[in-house]
Amino acid sequence: APAGAVAADDEKAELLRRFGDWHDPVRAIIGSVGPGQVLRHDVYQLTDPLPSFHQGRTALVGDSAHAMAPTLGQGGNQAIEDAVVLAHHLPPDRDPEEGLAAYSAARLPRTTAIVRKAAQASRLMQLSGGPAVAVRNGLIATVGRLGPGLALRAFDGIADWHPPQRTYAAGTKGGHRTRPW
Ligand SMILES: Cc1cc2nc3c(=O)[nH]c(=O)nc-3n(C[C@H](O)[C@H](O)[C@H](O)COP(=O)(O)OP(=O)(O)OC[C@H]3O[C@@H](n4cnc5c(N)ncnc54)[C@H](O)[C@@H]3O)c2cc1C
Repeated sequence: APAGAVAADDEKAELLRRFGDWHDPVRAIIGSVGPGQVLRHDVYQLTDPLPSFHQGRTALVGDSAHAMAPTLGQGGNQAIEDAVVLAHHLPPDRDPEEGLAAYSAARLPRTTAIVRKAAQASRLMQLSGGPAVAVRNGLIATVGRLGPGLALRAFDGIADWHPPQRTYAAGTKGGHRTRPW
């Protein structure tokens, strides 16, 4: 739908027009929503990556840094990864600007790749031409039947993320571990 579009009458009626003939319990779920309770918001994505996620002592995390299409279900996950990596690079004894620069360098390439992948999935899902939709749906059904694991390959490099590990220098200095990153 074009940005800012609203239903001519009521958003619930619009949902029923679009999904009312879907399988159970789709119609029942939409039907259980009260009048005026369907909220409609446009979804925006940052397809051109920001040059950096930080400036001086300020950093962006989550959607403010890398808003993406919800097609891979990754926006919230990436926000959590941001927080983990940010904490990793900002131990109390490190210069904050240096830590934020390391955070930015670590997160920009990964989130940019996922934003692009989500945008690709979004284009695929929003196909509207009859033949293209038929081919897409047929492919998805075939993959689902013959090799369900194949569909999960789309998440290679995404769902197998591991948080960064602190590497400690051997020994301690003044009773404290040294250089914790
Ligand atoms: C339909 C849909 C499905 C999704 N499904 C998934 C999923 O399955 N898995 C997943 O991981 N992610 C999913 N996401 C993405 C996920 O919801 C977002 O990526 C995530 O909420 C981003 O978190 P955030 O904290 O960065 O931003 P937000 O959740 O947007 O939080 C920002 C907050 O700041 C507040 N705010 C804004 N301006 C101000 C201001 N001036 N002063 C004070 N407060 C302010 C806002 O009210 C809001 O509460 C989905 C998104 C959509 C739209």
